[in-house]
Amino acid sequence: MHGIEETIARGMCIGCGACSAATSGAVRVTLNTNRLYTASLGDATSDQIRAASRVCPFSDDAVDEDALGAPHPSVGARTDRRIGTYTRTLVGSVASETERVKSSSGGMTSWMLAKLIDEGLVDAIVHVGRTASAPELFEFTVSRSEREIEERRKSQYYATTFAEVFQTILGEDIRVAVVGIPCFIKAARLLCREDERFATRITMFVGLVCGHLKSQFFAEALAWQAGVAPSELSRVDFRVKNSERSAGDYDFGAWRENDAEPSRQRTRSLIGGMWGHCAFQPEACNFCDDIFAETADIVFGDAWLPEYSADWRGTNVIVSRNEALDAILEAGMSSGEILVEDVGPDKVAHSQAGNFRHRRDGLAVRLADDIAAGKTVPKKRVEPDAHRVDRRRRRLIRQRRRMAALSFTWFAEARSSGDLSRFVAPMRREIAKYDRIAVPPWKTLAGAPAKLFARFARLVSARQAVMRERRD
Ligand SMILES: Cc1cc2nc3c(=O)[nH]c(=O)nc-3n(C[C@H](O)[C@H](O)[C@H](O)COP(=O)(O)OP(=O)(O)OC[C@H]3O[C@@H](n4cnc5c(N)ncnc54)[C@H](O)[C@@H]3O)c2cc1C
Repeated sequence: MHGIEETIARGMCIGCGACSAATSGAVRVTLNTNRLYTASLGDATSDQIRAASRVCPFSDDAVDEDALGAPHPSVGARTDRRIGTYTRTLVGSVASETERVKSSSGGMTSWMLAKLIDEGLVDAIVHVGRTASAPELFEFTVSRSEREIEERRKSQYYATTFAEVFQTILGEDIRVAVVGIPCFIKAARLLCREDERFATRITMFVGLVCGHLKSQFFAEALAWQAGVAPSELSRVDFRVKNSERSAGDYDFGAWRENDAEPSRQRTRSLIGGMWGHCAFQPEACNFCDDIFAETADIVFGDAWLPEYSADWRGTNVIVSRNEALDAILEAGMSSGEILVEDVGPDKVAHSQAGNFRHRRDGLAVRLADDIAAGKTVPKKRVEPDAHRVDRRRRRLIRQRRRMAALSFTWFAEARSSGDLSRFVAPMRREIAKYDRIAVPPWKTLAGAPAKLFARFARLVSARQAVMRERRD
């Protein structure tokens, strides 16, 4: 049995804070040395620990995503094992170019959040926005107006917790929509099952498609490479759009306290900037099989398909599971506020092909590895199977996990010594190793026979020339 105790002991806590909310703060959630939020059971009673375990997204005491299902089941909803329940599967963006460019992807999340308040479905939005002051750059906060929603656009690849904000909403008689990555949405849903006070307040769940979360080190490591040291860092933008490149090839921006303009670098050129390298990925993400926030009313992601990502302005994939939200989308389409089209579940799932390989295939291998090593693992919807993929893919999966773990150690060393190279240099070596595994040998060897033949032909012809000379 893998409960909250094992989740914490194995470093698999994602720090969402549902356990803290369920126990009125008896379970505490604090930042650890890896700059990830993590729970500690402290003096919690055994009843409190069991309640905490029932709302922990990585505990076997919690029901899984399939059992939780969609929050507001709709008549006629269908189910797909990749994306969960759905009523609509769409691709598109807001029509306004100005609004679209200000968001991370197609701007559909901010548009929908504003509509939820406009239409009176909720009174406020609980989501992640910038903090008023450093050292932490982002936190879960409450937005009550379109202006506040507007100010909190963009994806925050940054460890946060909703432990505190959920305590504050208990003091108010309001209905909120919570925005989050899949494990946070699952935790919020579990919390509503556990405690009626949350169920009456958290009435809408807005998911973000997720590849994995990042520790707060991620922002610091990218900023430092862009020239802004951790001690000077006051603001970041993880997704600065670049009109000269495709949507996925965005920039990273970092500001010091009084900088008018950010120091800007192409994200994928920075060590840790490539998502496939898994730098600063929490261990919890190694044990997640939910990509499309299957327990949310609606989920928004990036349309990572060539026909859409060619457009630098960004395009969303959307999976709706709620008829009331379908009606909002329909009205937006009719009024021309949004430009979206139904594409079906296959296209939406294909937009996250790499994500599925990492999460579902990778998870089968990681579960098998840990079980073989005698470690406890949570029960997942994917069966442990080290042979689900070929040998090369297995090595790649294991190398990713290794890089995630080492990135924390090396960045902590770089930070404490003030020497960035203590992170960059060893990571570069691990990335080279990763690249050697990722590029199949037949690809590197493909040109080899032709090269060998050409060399041989050159040698033969040189030898014949010498013989001719001798003869002449
Ligand atoms: C950690 C993380 C990993 C992701 N991985 C993927 C992926 O692999 N594939 C993919 O297609 N999409 C992924 N996304 C989603 C993607 O980055 C965009 O957020 C999504 O496409 C919505 O874009 P938008 O333009 O509609 O949102 P915007 O209009 O920019 O609005 C974003 C909204 O989300 C809120 N928000 C941002 N970050 C968080 C957070 N961490 N927790 C709670 N609320 C938040 C903001 O407050 C804002 O309200 C990820 C997002 C996160 C946070």
